[in-house]
Amino acid sequence: MALWNSGKSFFPVSSCPTVGISGLATGGGYGFLARPYGLTTDYILGMRIVTANGDRLVVNNVTNRDLFWALRGGGASSFGIVTLLAMQVVPAPPLVFTATVVWSLEQFIEVFKAWQRFTLNGPRTLTAKMNINSGTIGIYFVDSTGLALNFDKVEKSFPPANSTSHSLFNYPDFLVDIAGTLKIENGESLDSENMLHLNRTSDGSKYQVERSFYVQKLACERDISVLLDFLNEVPSSVTVSFQAYGGAINDVKNDDTAFVHRNGRLALAIITNDVLTNSDLSANAFLDEYFELGKRIFNQKESYQNYADGQLSDYLQRYYGKNLGRLIQVKQKYDPYNYFHNPQSVPTS
Ligand SMILES: Cc1cc2nc3c(=O)[nH]c(=O)nc-3n(C[C@H](O)[C@H](O)[C@H](O)COP(=O)(O)OP(=O)(O)OC[C@H]3O[C@@H](n4cnc5c(N)ncnc54)[C@H](O)[C@@H]3O)c2cc1C
Repeated sequence: MALWNSGKSFFPVSSCPTVGISGLATGGGYGFLARPYGLTTDYILGMRIVTANGDRLVVNNVTNRDLFWALRGGGASSFGIVTLLAMQVVPAPPLVFTATVVWSLEQFIEVFKAWQRFTLNGPRTLTAKMNINSGTIGIYFVDSTGLALNFDKVEKSFPPANSTSHSLFNYPDFLVDIAGTLKIENGESLDSENMLHLNRTSDGSKYQVERSFYVQKLACERDISVLLDFLNEVPSSVTVSFQAYGGAINDVKNDDTAFVHRNGRLALAIITNDVLTNSDLSANAFLDEYFELGKRIFNQKESYQNYADGQLSDYLQRYYGKNLGRLIQVKQKYDPYNYFHNPQSVPTS
């Protein structure tokens, strides 16, 4: 908001206002303007970092370049403490067009076929997220040009919907809109002013369990119907989502930074179980079933490092792919005694 107020500029961020910048930017950073603008990590110009031996380093494209490469996609938690992030800012889109389109689950096969065509060939000004929950499919489209034109064309490639609604926002109001139903502690609605002062406390009674993987192959009709059989079985606490990738995310090569999930990754598939108490975890079995199904249907081999998944045994390969060897070399150089570690951090060997 401060960037907008001081010159109507921005850099792309996540779709959730409670996410912190350090983890988001150093691990990736996908939001509703990702296809036209790319990932948050692609806007890092430089950093200051304190390393395990206490050195305070300037990290950018000239100084400590290997660390600069690693800290864009490799996450910060393996290498040191980031104390400053310098970000490239660009003019914010003056107007943002959004559309919410809803179908019933019976239309899934045709809707998913159209969704796949969109993720493969859709205009890069349009970013979209599909959510499937309680027998309903909803797709939220966002166009960074503020025009309905591209959406109108794409909409024609989908089957007729049960409902469609459109909105046009300036950038700050768009941020508030995607923050959705978030409320401030005292019950006030979120707006562009009080958004900066969000209270992040939680009463601990609500849990969200999530698994994710990258879609690397289009599903054929037979597999889409297998997916539909699965969706017909999931309880209402479970939401299956797909976030469209491509566009500007792919303008950067998958070894230019440590963020590997670029060309050929059509979408990030996410399955979420919203549970009310810690003991109500039975629906988690559906998350695991979906994850296995994804291996066969979507040839999934990679997961998003910012959605840490404690069940993965091959997490290093899944998070970093071909960039893993280079990340280990950077780790050996800057933190040889593995001072900065967690259960899924980059190892020293
Ligand atoms: C509700 C929710 C919604 C989300 N939505 C999105 C989304 O839309 N798009 C998306 O891309 N991702 C999303 N994420 C994932 C998000 O990108 C990661 O959780 C990210 O790590 C959050 O960054 P953070 O700074 O809040 O990290 P934290 O949770 O505070 O930390 C994550 C890790 O980074 C380390 N770390 C944090 N700051 C520093 C620092 N300054 N120096 C060194 N290490 C540090 C921490 O020690 C920890 O290991 C979401 C997560 C949540 C919980």
